[in-house]
Amino acid sequence: MPRPIEALIHVSALAHNLARARACAPDAKVWAVVKANAYGHGIAAAYEGLRGADGFALLDFAEAEQLRALGWRGPILLLEGCFETRDLELCSRLRLWHAVHNEQQIDWLAMHKTHEPHRVFLKMNSGMNRLGFTPQAFRAAWTRLNALPQVDEISLMTHFSDADALRFGQDGIAHQVAAFEAVTHDLPGERSVSNSAATLRHTPRLRSDWVRAGIMSYGGIPDFPEHDDAYWDLQPAMTLRSKVIGLQNLQPGDSVGYGSSFTADRPMRIGIVACGYADGYPRHCPHGTPVLVDGQRSGTVGRVSMDMLAVDLSALPQAGLGSEITLWGRGPKGSRLPIDEVAKAGGTIGYELMCALARRVPVTIEHID
Ligand SMILES: *Cc1c(COP(=O)(O)O)cnc(C)c1O
Repeated sequence: MPRPIEALIHVSALAHNLARARACAPDAKVWAVVKANAYGHGIAAAYEGLRGADGFALLDFAEAEQLRALGWRGPILLLEGCFETRDLELCSRLRLWHAVHNEQQIDWLAMHKTHEPHRVFLKMNSGMNRLGFTPQAFRAAWTRLNALPQVDEISLMTHFSDADALRFGQDGIAHQVAAFEAVTHDLPGERSVSNSAATLRHTPRLRSDWVRAGIMSYGGIPDFPEHDDAYWDLQPAMTLRSKVIGLQNLQPGDSVGYGSSFTADRPMRIGIVACGYADGYPRHCPHGTPVLVDGQRSGTVGRVSMDMLAVDLSALPQAGLGSEITLWGRGPKGSRLPIDEVAKAGGTIGYELMCALARRVPVTIEHID
């Protein structure tokens, strides 16, 4: 028998979450964002659940090729655009739309030989200060692109730093919306401004002809813990589960694991689970991080090690060797453990946990029947 850890990808949850993105932004087209191997879910599984999207947004050419090989003929957008001049040939061959966020990318386009002009998404840095032209430089970039025979349609995009919360004394996006609107209001072309948080929280007030649904497609909650999966009606698309492979009875004064970071102050029964940081479970998750034992809530004990972690079975006398441990996602009998709760305990976000699922963990795709 293989080591009893596995990840399940719930295709029906992906489809449900995509439907939620559509319901939140009924007038918009939806990019399913599948960068980073579909946030750790795998491109093939994501494609199965999200093929009802209007397009797929990603960063890597290999992932774009994978989507084309799976049969996707619709739009694919490269969110960071091209990284070198040769990439434009791949864009032409695979019919990829691409972001343009710096002058060099325009230089490359101007030299590119193509029969089919490209659709590009010109990106403004409206305040995030990562990629994009400043509001001052944006119109000159647009004018330059618009004059190129290599360019077909120009769409306009920007990205919010704070769509998930109230910040800067207001809704977190007002200053960026104002910067974007001031410069683009009279330019033609479709707009793409909303990530998941903006799609969920700000849609009616935002013009975004294409929303970019990343984390919400996978059932992650961008504004957890202010809101949870029940509030937004999103379903977890990934479950990480394993089993108890060892049992220990502790006496007061006994410690557990590396560094003896936890010492029992009462008699305890603990289960040793075949899951550690080399599987993608965060080592930073402290003592007491929530887990499900046969669907019942309990917590981790002591430090997470490379291949194992310990869980408290003291209050669960029926639990023993072989008990099912849900690290996140769906547990038995309708139980659930949101990935965002585990992430919060570990001082991070659900995004990072999904993306960090290790290659050694076998993945099972639960198809829609
Ligand atoms: C990753 C990414 C998104 C998706 O963000 P979520 O918060 O996961 O919805 C949208 N736009 C850009 C430019 C991105 O890089």
